[in-house]
Amino acid sequence: MDRLTAQQRHANMAAIRSKDTKPEMIARHGLCKRGFRYRLNHKQLPGHPDLVLRKYRTCIFVNGCFWHGHLVDMQALESSNCCKIPNTNRYFWVEKIRKNKERGREEQRQLAQMGWHCITVWECELKPQKRETTLDSIAFTLNHIWLQDHGARSIPYPKVEEEDMQMSMASERENE
Ligand SMILES: [Zn+2]
Repeated sequence: MDRLTAQQRHANMAAIRSKDTKPEMIARHGLCKRGFRYRLNHKQLPGHPDLVLRKYRTCIFVNGCFWHGHLVDMQALESSNCCKIPNTNRYFWVEKIRKNKERGREEQRQLAQMGWHCITVWECELKPQKRETTLDSIAFTLNHIWLQDHGARSIPYPKVEEEDMQMSMASERENE
C-alpha cells in the first residue's frame, strides 16, 4: 500500500536529494580527518562537484545510489541492491535515473577536458562497514594523483652543496 500522495513523495525525494545529505557529510569529515582540504559545490565547474580539491586537481562526486542508478542494469532495467526502481511510475523513474547517469557522464567528460580528475563515491560505499576502507582508498588515489602530477622531474634537487658548505663553515668555526 502506497500511502504517500504524489506531492508528499516528491517532497520526500527532494529532501533526500538536497545538499548536505549524510553521505556527503561522511565523505567530507573522512577526508578532512585525513588531512585533505576542499571546496564545496564549486559553482563554476560542470556538475557543481560535491568536493573540489584544487591541489589534487580532483573533483569528487558523492552519488546517491538511487538517483544515479548504482549497479542498475539499464539495458534490462533491473534494480540493484542499492537502487530499487519503484514499480509505481516505473517508466518515469527509469527515465529520470537514465538522464542523471547521462548527465553525470557528460559532466565528468567536460571536467576531464578541463584537466580535472574525477572520483565518484557511492552512497553504499560510505555505509558504516565500508566507510573507512572507502575513504582510505580515496586518500590513496588522491596521493597517487598528486605524485603523478608532480613527477620526480619537477621536484628541484636538494641543495646538497649549500648544506655541505654551511656544515663545513660551522665546523671551521667550531675549530677556531
Ligand atoms: Zn550503491
